[in-house]
Parts: sequence; structure tokens; C-alpha cells
Amino acid sequence: MAFLSGSKKFLLNLLVHRCIGCGSRMEAGKGRFCSWCLVRMYPDGERMIEGIRVLTGFLHSGVMREMILRFKFGGERHLGRELARLALDSWKEIPSGDDTLFPVPISRNRLRERGYNQAALLAVAISRETGASFRESLVRSGGESQIGVSGSERVENISGKFSVSPGTGCTGRAWLIDDVMTTGATITEIVSTLSDAGIQQVQPAVVCFRKIREKSIIPSKEVNHAGI
Ligand SMILES: [Zn+2]
Repeated sequence: MAFLSGSKKFLLNLLVHRCIGCGSRMEAGKGRFCSWCLVRMYPDGERMIEGIRVLTGFLHSGVMREMILRFKFGGERHLGRELARLALDSWKEIPSGDDTLFPVPISRNRLRERGYNQAALLAVAISRETGASFRESLVRSGGESQIGVSGSERVENISGKFSVSPGTGCTGRAWLIDDVMTTGATITEIVSTLSDAGIQQVQPAVVCFRKIREKSIIPSKEVNHAGI
């Protein structure tokens, strides 16, 4: 009987509709987010970084920040699809079937630690939704993670750290996809790398924009867990 009641609970749990943001129970047919999470979502739009227009879906705050941290540091890969959908709903433009998506690469150390590149998961999900092609042609050579690094140090750290696989090209626009943009140093560096490789029409797009803090008040050991 104990087994049966356990199975019943399991089946009932499968039928329960939960908010993607906070996990609270919701009535079926009421959308993917509860009203509490909806008011903690802050759409952004676009940011100009050194003359480059970057599409920014949301501010890195509230429920979007929480979901990004779960996605990036909590191993919840499945959130890539949800975050991609939210970004596509929020961006002023979306990729077409002729375009190519290039995820921002992460360092080899980070990839080993995390087991996946969150930007690549986002790009795959965006590719499925829009029909745009997906290419992991960008390579990050030895650059350390930018987490917890100040604005001026970031520019110095990443200069010349990216390369493009030989023979990479694209017919439509090249979309540079990432989860979070802070200073935009990574994005401007990659746009320049792609331009050197003959790819001129580049549209960077990120799920969230995070405001710059020159110096994080969080100790560096805790930075990864806090995602700041
Ligand atoms: Zn919620």
C-alpha cells in the first residue's frame, strides 16, 4: 500500500503545474510564471557599447537573475530553453532562418568545471525556435573567467583571447549569443575578431544586462556562488 500511495503521489506531482521562476503551485492554464515572479521581471531593450548595438532582453535582477544563477551555477540546463524563449519574446529583433548563431565560448577550465557552456545551450534553443543555424566556431584561448573582475581589468584580460575556426562564414547575419553582458568587453572583442575573419554583420544579443560594479563587495571565493 505504501508503494501505491508513493506512486500516486508521484503521478499527482507530475500533474501539478508549477511556476518556472519560484516553483510555487499554480492553476493549470495560468501561464508559465506566477504573478509574484512576473512583477520581478525587468525587460531592458538595447545597449550601445562602443558603437555596437547589443540586444538585451532583461536586467540581471529579480526572477531573471535567479534563473540565470540556477542555469549557470546550479546545473539546471533545462532552463536554457525557457531563458531562450523569454529572450526571443523580449528582444526587439530575432534571428531569421538565414542567420547563424555563435555562442560566446567559455574558458576550458570553466567548461571542465561546469560541464557545459550556457551560451551554447541558449544558442541551440534559439536555433530550434527560429531555424537559424548554430555554430560553435569561436574559441577562447586560455582566457580566465571574467567573474569578479573589474571593468578596466576585463578589457586587458580578454584582449586577443578569441579566435574563429578557419573557414567560418555565414550567409545572413551573425548573432553573437550570451547569457549575461556586464561591461561588454567580451562582446566588443569578439565582434572585432569576427570582423577580422570577414564576418561584418554581427548582432550581439544577451538574455540579461548586468550593471557594472568597479569593485565587487563580495569576497572572490564566494563570487562564483553569488554569480557576481
Ligand atoms: Zn513564481
